[in-house]
Amino acid sequence: MSELLVAIASCSDAFELAPLTARTELGGLRVRHVWLGEPAELDAAVSLGLPRHAVDTPPSPGQGGVVLLAGHGQASQQFALRARHAGATVVRWNAGQRSHAPGEDDERRLTDHLANSWLCSSDVQLQELRREGCDAARIHVVGSLLPAALARLAERPAPAAPTVWLALEHRASVADAAALARLLQRVVDASAGAGLGARASATVLGPALKAHHLALPGPLQLAAFTPLEQLHAALDARVLITDSAGHQELAAVAGVPCILLRAATARPETVLAGASTLVGPDADLAVALAAALRRAPAHSPYADAMLALPQALSACAAPTATGSKAAPAKSTALPSDGDHTGRTLGEDEVALAALAIRSGTLNSTRGTFVAEFERRFAAWQGSKHAIACANGSAAVHAALAAIDLQPGDEVVTTPITDMGALTPILYQGGVPVFADVDPRSKNVTAATIAAQCTERTRAIVVTHLFGLPAELDAITQFANDRGIAVIEDCAQAFGATTRGRKVGTWGRIAAFSLQQGKHITCGEGGVVTTDDEALARRVFLFVNKAWGYGDPRPDHYFPALNYRLTELQGAVLVAQLGKLDAVIDARRRVAAALRAQLEGLPGLDLPRDPEGGAHVFWKFAIDVDPAVVAGGAVALGKGLQEQGIACAPRYVQKPAFACELFRDWRRFAVTSMPLLHNPRGQGDNPWPAAAELVGTAEALDRVLVLPINERYLPQHIDRVAAAIRQRHAELTRG
Ligand SMILES: *Cc1c(COP(=O)(O)O)cnc(C)c1O
Repeated sequence: MSELLVAIASCSDAFELAPLTARTELGGLRVRHVWLGEPAELDAAVSLGLPRHAVDTPPSPGQGGVVLLAGHGQASQQFALRARHAGATVVRWNAGQRSHAPGEDDERRLTDHLANSWLCSSDVQLQELRREGCDAARIHVVGSLLPAALARLAERPAPAAPTVWLALEHRASVADAAALARLLQRVVDASAGAGLGARASATVLGPALKAHHLALPGPLQLAAFTPLEQLHAALDARVLITDSAGHQELAAVAGVPCILLRAATARPETVLAGASTLVGPDADLAVALAAALRRAPAHSPYADAMLALPQALSACAAPTATGSKAAPAKSTALPSDGDHTGRTLGEDEVALAALAIRSGTLNSTRGTFVAEFERRFAAWQGSKHAIACANGSAAVHAALAAIDLQPGDEVVTTPITDMGALTPILYQGGVPVFADVDPRSKNVTAATIAAQCTERTRAIVVTHLFGLPAELDAITQFANDRGIAVIEDCAQAFGATTRGRKVGTWGRIAAFSLQQGKHITCGEGGVVTTDDEALARRVFLFVNKAWGYGDPRPDHYFPALNYRLTELQGAVLVAQLGKLDAVIDARRRVAAALRAQLEGLPGLDLPRDPEGGAHVFWKFAIDVDPAVVAGGAVALGKGLQEQGIACAPRYVQKPAFACELFRDWRRFAVTSMPLLHNPRGQGDNPWPAAAELVGTAEALDRVLVLPINERYLPQHIDRVAAAIRQRHAELTRG
């Protein structure tokens, strides 16, 4: 029978994993314990359930077996390396805990990535590991061992009086003497105010009080119990106040309300379950305590791990398809704009969002953050006005509403764009007319627009696809001659320039998106810019149900929606805007580095700056010539996807007009009404046939869209470039 070595490095791990000691066999493995902690703590660990005979012996080479690694300090990391070297499977216990506080996750992440299988207590941790590139097939969500550990505790006498238990575990929490004195006083005052006693665990606090020459404020008792007695005290407390994620888990399992003196936690599931609250180090503890006492008892968010553990361990021990030595986590997992790995969201955003919340004003009509973002964005863009709104589609919608279309008016635009840029035309009573794109730039041109213009054309929506500016000089020249309004869709092109001038300043009005995947983001959001006072006023009204705020006799002047942003989003955007120039620079550097590695590969046309301007690389879109690369963009993209590089051959699979909402236009009021007022609605199909727009068909056939973002490091660029070169070589051979 193979061995399961349970490697334990601290007292709390010893207690948590004690249920395994009771078993000699688990998941078909013989159980043995290993102590990696300080020799001085061994006795305490034994009192919490560690077998006295636990010793530090690694698995024998060649024997295989499984190591269950609980700690994340240096001793644990070294043990993991020795075990890997000996051919053992290293299973990380409690993997994927991330608080995302600066510098705090490094040791845990490093230890997690030394393992080749992972056991988590919640889905949150599973997601963290997947984002970091861990093989999903080797991650198991098993729950918590604390229910089993608590069940093993001996009966104890009922507590004499209800108390608040203060458990500080981190040295950083006690490092500053003045802050510590204030915290202790706040705990005392809050507890007294709630009619409760207050006690504190001595482990970290005791030595700190000595070092700072601090006395305890009167009623607070320092409880220098044994570890087991401290555990009892925590479980018997009416409320637990702590700085430790481990205590959060303990409190959640035991049903004790928990207040975390931190702004970040690796245990968000306990907050979601209502078992704990994050209040930050400086919070009003009287308020937090009163709220904790009022809360209904929460259900633990954790399953009992003893149920799923045997099966998970035997799955970890089983040889994989690629042999028993599973690969460690890939450190070259590509940063994704879907989460923190590929975004610039951080402490600045957290701080401003916290200010917004503490202000108590979350709507923009009374708040200050959205207004501040609008002022700063207008200045950044070099426009007289900026009006924020709910999303990029709303921004396009508001821009179209501002130019006041009449029923059946035609709006010439591109068939390769986000649907959110097209449906607003119909909602405003207009008819979208699709101009062809240049197959190389994939943007509409003055010539393709001119070919579609009629006497009914009222506006042109120009999209700067992937961050490459369209030929704005020729397009605006043409439009001005004809008296047609140009709306620029800059959702993908923040800060792009052509002929030395920013996109968004060429047309009469411009729309931007602040959705999760754009250059800067607040999750969902948009902003409209213009130099035209009257248009700005109409955009503002359209976003605000057309209610004349501030007018002497306000009314709802025309049909409009509530497209406002909240102050929460405004706060995040104020912080994000400060990073926008750096984001653009970083993306341009990443693109240049990637281009340098791919330059000269036959059949690939790489994206680059327009003459006298700057591409801002929302994506890195390559044009693949199928006459040179067998199978073209689709075959090349498939090869990259097989290597875990999420790329998109064809971008949007088909031209917009081939989508159901256009093909079945008679079925919907929104699509059929504008066409009642337009001669195009007299035939059956008001849209072009796919083959008619040759440039569009060719552009979609040949485009391969690679995701890049501002967080790509040289190793990520190397990885993408190597995968492209390898696949390209296979597809151009012979
Ligand atoms: C993202 C995007 C939109 C829509 O923005 P949302 O915020 O998703 O509504 C519109 N046009 C283009 C070109 C886009 O890329």
